[in-house]
Amino acid sequence: MSDIFESLESEVRSYCRGWDTIFERASGSFLYSEDGRGYLDFFSGAGALNYGHNHPALLRPLMEYLLSGAVIHSLDMKTTAKRRFLETFHELILKPRNLDYKVMFPGPTGTNSVEAALKLARKVTGRTHVLGFTNAFHGMTLGSLAVTGNSMKRQGAGVPLTHASSIPYDGFLGDDALAFSWLRSALADSGSGLDKPAAVIVETVQGEGGLRAARASWLRELSDICHQYGILLIVDDVQAGCGRTGKFFSFEDVGIVPDIVCLSKSISAFGLPLALTLFKPELDLWKPGEHNGTFRGHNPAFVTGAAALEHFWQDGRFEQKIAAVAAQLHEGLRLIADATEGASVRGRGMLAGIHYSDPKAAGKIAAESFTRGLLVETSGPEGEVLKTMPALTISATELRRGLEILAEAAESVTGQRIVLKTVA
Ligand SMILES: *Cc1c(COP(=O)(O)O)cnc(C)c1O
Repeated sequence: MSDIFESLESEVRSYCRGWDTIFERASGSFLYSEDGRGYLDFFSGAGALNYGHNHPALLRPLMEYLLSGAVIHSLDMKTTAKRRFLETFHELILKPRNLDYKVMFPGPTGTNSVEAALKLARKVTGRTHVLGFTNAFHGMTLGSLAVTGNSMKRQGAGVPLTHASSIPYDGFLGDDALAFSWLRSALADSGSGLDKPAAVIVETVQGEGGLRAARASWLRELSDICHQYGILLIVDDVQAGCGRTGKFFSFEDVGIVPDIVCLSKSISAFGLPLALTLFKPELDLWKPGEHNGTFRGHNPAFVTGAAALEHFWQDGRFEQKIAAVAAQLHEGLRLIADATEGASVRGRGMLAGIHYSDPKAAGKIAAESFTRGLLVETSGPEGEVLKTMPALTISATELRRGLEILAEAAESVTGQRIVLKTVA
């Protein structure tokens, strides 16, 4: 297919290469191509569409807002939409969880939130070094890339990525690794050569880097070390947050309270660009305008973001719904993984997938899934993990259908028969 996308759009384009069709409409867990074919979406905009496509409870208030003559762009001026979003976020998210955070609107993307977090951590501590983890992904701008693992993405920087180093994530050194004994010793010994870091930045589940999920005990130990040494703990919840792993924040069940939290992807709830950086009030040492930008908090995104909090996060019912579909997803993935020697399920909640020992398997299964009408991507440095990220709002029937397609695709690639009969 030679078309305007190939003739005009840069070679940098990526997702459109594996999913070579032209999408026109979308609703709930389905995307529809121009030729009318429906694709079940187990990708969800890389986590930007946790509530599915065009959810009516979000579309309606957005349409009303747009037609009402309300303000769209306002830099960081006070608007009715922003007040509603801040009040709702405070009432329904921060207050019930006893989280005392200030809210900053950086630029509208995940990497903008990470850059703001890193900048603030360096400013507050007066230190420059930041620790990140093996296989981490934090975004494509230079500060975020410096704490990102993937060598191909790092190479793209074109300049040395400095003032950061990478330490082993949970599971990187094998299951019962020494965890933090090196880090503890290095911080305690003034001869270790490790500059005392301003911050450690961590994902609770590595969305792009292969779906490793950190154990709660590992995250608690990391948090303890940070407290002990006065190092700020940044949780990048851009992908794992907003309900993706079961609770609103991915660290809620873990028993840690990060100093700084990055949110983006699904915080607007509708696929509109919006990001937040949250931090403890005593860290709020910014001078007015010291971190600036034209698109910090977009009113239409405030409208859909607030509407989603009101629609889904008033009580615990949505968390129960997520727990049910996540159990169904993990059961299905386990049955698919069981059929292949060396394959195992990774991830947590609705951010889960299958790690294959053959690094080509996941990519082939994703391609076979597409021909069967299912969008699913891969994760990990070699694309060795099949990554599923259905909408949190998906029905049990749609989820089952997607798992069936995945099983068929996996059968065609691995030659192993898969029976999904125990999936509800
Ligand atoms: C996607 C992602 C980012 C970057 O977000 P962009 O909006 O693409 O800049 C940062 N951190 C994590 C964990 C992500 O998944």
